[in-house]
Order: sequence, then C-alpha cells, then structure tokens
Amino acid sequence: MPGTVTNEAPWLSLDRGHVWHPYSAVGADTPVFPVVAASGVRLRLADGRELIDGMASWWCAIHGYNVPEINAALSAQLDTLAHVMFGGLTHAPAARLAGRLVELTPAPLESVFFSDSGSVAVEVALKMAIQYWHARGKPRKQHFATLRRGYHGDTFGAMSVSDPETGMHTLFSNMLAQQLFIDAPTSRFGEPCNATDVAALETVLTAHHDELAALILEPVVQGAGGMRFYAADYLKQARALCDEVGVLLICDEIATGFGRTGRLFACEHAGIAPDILCLGKALTGGYLTLAATLTTAGIAETIRQGDPGVFMHGPTFMANPLACTAALASLQLLLDSPWQGRVVNIEAQLARELAPCRQFDSVAEVRTLGAIGVVELHASVNMQRLPQQFVDAGVWIRPFGKLIYLMPPFIINTEDLGTLTAAITHIIRKL
Ligand SMILES: *Cc1c(COP(=O)(O)O)cnc(C)c1O
Repeated sequence: MPGTVTNEAPWLSLDRGHVWHPYSAVGADTPVFPVVAASGVRLRLADGRELIDGMASWWCAIHGYNVPEINAALSAQLDTLAHVMFGGLTHAPAARLAGRLVELTPAPLESVFFSDSGSVAVEVALKMAIQYWHARGKPRKQHFATLRRGYHGDTFGAMSVSDPETGMHTLFSNMLAQQLFIDAPTSRFGEPCNATDVAALETVLTAHHDELAALILEPVVQGAGGMRFYAADYLKQARALCDEVGVLLICDEIATGFGRTGRLFACEHAGIAPDILCLGKALTGGYLTLAATLTTAGIAETIRQGDPGVFMHGPTFMANPLACTAALASLQLLLDSPWQGRVVNIEAQLARELAPCRQFDSVAEVRTLGAIGVVELHASVNMQRLPQQFVDAGVWIRPFGKLIYLMPPFIINTEDLGTLTAAITHIIRKL
C-alpha cells in the first residue's frame, strides 16, 4: 500500500517466496513468525515482541535457549575441530558421548551408531534388526510390527512403521514397505494393562514371527501420532512376548528420552531394556541435529560375524564433533540439574492449571505426564488463526490436529508456565 511504512525484514519476503516450512506449502498464507534471538524460555520476534516458549522447539530445548554452558563448550570445540569425516577417523567428542550414552541407557545397550536426525536413527535401527537376522541365517525376517497411532519419522522406512492415517503418509502407500500394525494400547498410564491390548500384540507376534525382524514402538508416550500415554505394563508384556517368539524390540525414545516423562528414559517406567534404542531430539539440548541408535554387544557381534561383516550405513556428517560436544554439555547440564524435581513440579502445575479446560464443550480430554500437558479437542484447530492468537497472547504454542499441548523447557519457572496454561485456557474458552 502506498504510504504504508513497513519494518518487515527484507529476508522475510525471500522466505515467503522460496522456502518450505515443515508440512507447509511455499507461498501459503499461513503465518510464519520471524525469530531474531532466543534466551532462557523466551523467543524474540523481529518486531521486538517476546514469546514464552511452550514447545521447547519440538521438545528439544530442554534447557531453554542461549545456554552459557553449551555455548562455551561449542566455542572451545570450534577452535579445535568443527568437522571431520568419521570413516577411518575418530575424535574425542564422539567417543566420549558414546561412553556417556552407554552409561546412561539400560545396561545391555553397548554399541552406538550416530546419525543426523531421528528419522535416520529409525532407518538405522530397522537395518540393524534386518542385518542381525540375516547374520543368524533368517533372511526372511525383514518385516516390522508396530503400533497404530505411532510416529517414527518422515523417511520411507520410518514412514512405513508410522500410523498410516495420523502419519499423513497414505499418499506414498504404494512405495511403502508393508508392515504389520497392532491396535494402539487402550490401557492408560498408571493403570495395569488390559487383556485385550496384550492379546492384540500376541496375535500378531505369534502369527508372523517368521517374517518379523522387530517390534518398533514409542515407550509409554506416543508423540506426534496423537500424544497418547499408555500403561508401562504393556511394555513389559511386549518385551516378554518378543523374547518368547524371537522378535527384536526397538524402542524409539526420540521424543521421550532425556527426562521428558519424568524418567531419564521412558523404558525405565517399565524396567525393561530394548534390543535397539533410538535417541534424538533433546540429545543436544536443541542446539544441533544429532541422533543415535544403540544396540547390545550381542547384536553388534552377530552383525560382525555375519555377511558382509560390517553394518551397511554411513552418513557423511556422522558424529559431527560440534553436535557431539553440544550433546555432552547438554547431558552434563541435565545430570547436574535437579531435573527430576523440575519435571515433577511442571507435571503438577500442568495438571492443576489445565484441569479447568475439562469444563468446556470443545474439550474431549486433558492429560498430563512428566513435562507434557495435552488438551485434546473434539475438532481440529484452525491453524490459520490459532497460532496468531497465541502469539498475540505472548506465548509460542503450536497445536496439531485436535491437540493443543505444552512441552516446555525444564527450566521454566512457575510464573511463565502459568502464562502458558492461562493462554490455553483463555483461547479454548473462546472456541
Ligand atoms: C521427531 C521424532 C522422530 C523423527 O525425528 P526427526 O529428527 O524429525 O527426523 C522419530 N520418532 C519419534 C518418536 C519422534 O518424536
């Protein structure tokens, strides 16, 4: 408009004209908000407004942003080694991080494969399981069982084990490997597991164990597939059934790992250990992209003794030293912090302050577990309007489908968390 003064940054029009955002269209009119800085639990927008972050950047930034300890570790690493290929070469950050992960994860997990993203960590897990059975003389075991409502990533192998409907992947169905889907457990977290849930699991595993390399699932919390919390006892049953019929168990802790559910790893709620574990998201405290797939010494050794005697995967940026350094600093910070107490307090406050949402007709259910608070609505939210309304309320909350949820950084204080829950209650009241 002539005469209109705009202080929009020139790069913003480049973004609008040329850049895809996650699950979006180039040139769409859904708003994206320009961030110029972030510190603690606050994101600063280009126009100077500050938003309290309720998402921890898709569950990664557990310590918030601009964290002095991680900044210092990265600066020091930058001065010595930013990157080097991992084929035939190695470096201290990768070796130390592997040692740390082996120490912290359930006991039998001893071998670590680093990759760049959660989806790739899942691909690596699937390939490990297949190579293991191949080495054991069972090349038919190349399929996977998985739970409905699960989400394991956006690459082809990961898509094939994600919920066909909520995973938004039906478009690619002809290209996807056919896997066996088991009804998602209905038993709630904190309750014993019901017989129907176990029977569904047992039926598939017993009938198909000849062709199954592994069962893959997200322990206790199904994240992007619906934010559902299920009985820890179900995991115990799954572990026992897998052992009984000779199928590996892969736990995808990319969303749940590093304290989010109140335990360092969600498997601990059930006291079980998987054969293969996927980690990602909060691994670097939200600083850099890094993921890891861990397995047992037995599986690693079987792969070594099989044909071709090596594990067939090797990303270009495998074990990037900066990413490994950020992960080491983030883990140290987490373990040195009173994170359990923080998560317990966040859970109590979320439960208390989101409970009033239950009175609204638009709300189907309110649930909380660890530092996760979910308000499930009866209908999908309006993504043209709702994010803007949250921004106007001074908070960053990004709903999906029927779900409005909070997964704040663990360092959030009572007042800021109160602002987040108040924004949700206020906006749902007006729906
Ligand atoms: C986010 C997520 C993934 C995929 O990770 P990316 O880093 O986005 O590839 C896989 N599994 C689970 C459980 C996740 O939450």
